[in-house]
Amino acid sequence: MPRSTAASIDLEALKRNYRTAADRAGSAKAMAVVKADGYGHGIAQVASALADVAPRYAVACIEEALAIRAAGLVQPVVLLQGVHARGDLADCECSNFEPVLHNEKQLEWLEQGDDMPWFWLKVNTGMNRLGFWPDDLQAVMARVEKAGAGSRLLGFVSHFACADDTSSTMTAAQTAVFETATSAWPGVMKSLGNSAAHFISGQPLFDWSRPGIMLYGGSPVVGKTGPELGLEPVMSLEAPLITTRVVRAGEAVGYGRAWVAERDTRMGMVAIGYADGYPRHAGTGTPAAIDSQRIRLIGRVSMDMLAVDLSNAPDASEGDRVELWGKTVGVDEVAACAGTISYELLTGITNRVPRIYI
Ligand SMILES: *Cc1c(COP(=O)(O)O)cnc(C)c1O
Repeated sequence: MPRSTAASIDLEALKRNYRTAADRAGSAKAMAVVKADGYGHGIAQVASALADVAPRYAVACIEEALAIRAAGLVQPVVLLQGVHARGDLADCECSNFEPVLHNEKQLEWLEQGDDMPWFWLKVNTGMNRLGFWPDDLQAVMARVEKAGAGSRLLGFVSHFACADDTSSTMTAAQTAVFETATSAWPGVMKSLGNSAAHFISGQPLFDWSRPGIMLYGGSPVVGKTGPELGLEPVMSLEAPLITTRVVRAGEAVGYGRAWVAERDTRMGMVAIGYADGYPRHAGTGTPAAIDSQRIRLIGRVSMDMLAVDLSNAPDASEGDRVELWGKTVGVDEVAACAGTISYELLTGITNRVPRIYI
């Protein structure tokens, strides 16, 4: 019998979150961002579950796009990082992958090649990670036309740096730069918004939005949880209690004696640790739950287990299932306790944890 530690994935909740994104996108269409193994939920299952509703997928790299094809899905797949080798353009063309070309090298490959996939062009509007400078766009477009690739250009892409912070003026500034830079080509589509942009009132989302984290129920907005934004948790991470004991006042639990009992405390050990992807930086006080009853972590997270205070769950016994995050405890809450974001927790679940689809 394997240990019962598992991540349950609610594909119906995923679909409802996609519909929320599509509704919020208004006249824009929403491409489902399923990179990083569907944000840790399994790219084949996630993409398949969304196949009836999502007209396009987006991933980081070609391996991920191939995983979508291996699942038998036919929608176009946008490669957000473009291609890493010239030869990949041919694969894009025959597999209907749409690279987002963002640098000089990729542009040269397009110019040199006979292979003309449909593609997007990335414009750097201030994130300063990837993309052509707005001032260079005219010249880039001239080269695209000269290479005979103009008819294959689907759209312009850019990405927000601060959309998670609703008080930032950066998002409006980037939107303005994007609109101005692309205004000479009104017939070319535009894609700008990540999940967070769906929650900024009045934010234009142009032709295609790119929701990622919101599909999985994580919050894209600083200071708000997914449920507060109308999103449903998709992953429930659960593990069994493997022992319980009463620790006497003054005794400590776990490595470094990081938590010391102030009074006699009934506690339990849970079969999940940082080698499963549970964040080691989640300290004493991080919430978990048994039977929808909230409990708290105590001491340091170990590689294969962690300790919980069972004062709030007096009936809990060996074999009971502990929710680390899911419907009772939001992944955003755990992320905040660990000094990170839900994205990192969801994508960090390791292969040792089986996924169960419901
Ligand atoms: C990952 C990614 C997204 C999705 O971002 P979320 O914050 O998860 O919605 C959108 N666009 C680009 C370019 C990305 O890399």
